[in-house]
Amino acid sequence: MGGYVPDDIMIGMIKDRLRQPDCTRGFILDGFPRTVPQAEALDVLMQELGRSFDRVLYLRVDLNELLRRLSGRLVCPLCQRTYPPGTEKCKADATALVQREDDKQEAVQPRIEIYLKKTIPVLDHYRSGDLVSEIDGRGTIDDISRQVLDAIGQNGQVRQ
Ligand SMILES: [Zn+2]
Repeated sequence: MGGYVPDDIMIGMIKDRLRQPDCTRGFILDGFPRTVPQAEALDVLMQELGRSFDRVLYLRVDLNELLRRLSGRLVCPLCQRTYPPGTEKCKADATALVQREDDKQEAVQPRIEIYLKKTIPVLDHYRSGDLVSEIDGRGTIDDISRQVLDAIGQNGQVRQ
């Protein structure tokens, strides 16, 4: 839900990045694609590059939890770093943190609903290829890491 970048520009950026030598053995796309048109454009790109996805990980968090996490978020007005609810000062520059107008619950809820409406169909796009692993996003970082490793395989090889 960050800044808006048009799909064709985004696909061009991903294309340039995936051509770098460090992507030869594998890569992870985080938070992309978020819409079905993006997923379709990405399919075309992957085919062009002769690559394919091994897994699609869906970190599932229910709407109320998303609201709680996002609407409590605080930001440093000086350097724009974001912090979880309850943090008092920016760790980098000790400025008092504030809540952005568009991070307040009443502003966040419609954004999340629009986001889910566009993003959930992306899962169906990949489910047809049996690529989706659902990860329970409610647990601790350790719980989630374990589920992610289990889904992709400890050595990065996809479990068959
Ligand atoms: Zn700061």
